[in-house]
Amino acid sequence: MRKRALIIGGGPAGLASAIGLRQAGWQCEIVELTTDWRPTGVGIALQSPPLRALKTLGLFDELIRIARPHPKLDICAADGRPSSRSARTVSASRPA
Ligand SMILES: Cc1cc2nc3c(=O)[nH]c(=O)nc-3n(C[C@H](O)[C@H](O)[C@H](O)COP(=O)(O)OP(=O)(O)OC[C@H]3O[C@@H](n4cnc5c(N)ncnc54)[C@H](O)[C@@H]3O)c2cc1C
Repeated sequence: MRKRALIIGGGPAGLASAIGLRQAGWQCEIVELTTDWRPTGVGIALQSPPLRALKTLGLFDELIRIARPHPKLDICAADGRPSSRSARTVSASRPA
């Protein structure tokens, strides 16, 4: 009999857990409080830890196919002054 998991919440953690557990042979059910599945914002910036997690799940190549790398990233304080800058980009030839 397959092991069964009930996952509370369909955010990134819940969805990633469901994918990982299914790959390990578990049967998963996700329950989500929100009934309105709409994108919020314009995108999501993924840095090294989530990229490594997606790689572990076997989703990195698909991500690279659909994602857009950013040439640089400025993180600013509330007054607009840059507090840090990242020039690093990730691509299929340069994984996280
Ligand atoms: C405006 C904004 C921009 C962001 N931008 C980025 C970004 O660019 N890059 C990045 O890495 N991170 C970003 N984050 C952070 C990122 O959204 C969170 O780190 C991530 O969503 C956490 O995932 P999670 O699955 O742990 O929790 P959540 O995304 O909060 O998911 C939890 C889910 O559980 C559901 N839930 C809660 N209680 C129950 C219940 N009792 N029963 C059923 N369902 C329930 C909720 O409705 C929710 O859908 C941003 C966050 C915000 C607010």
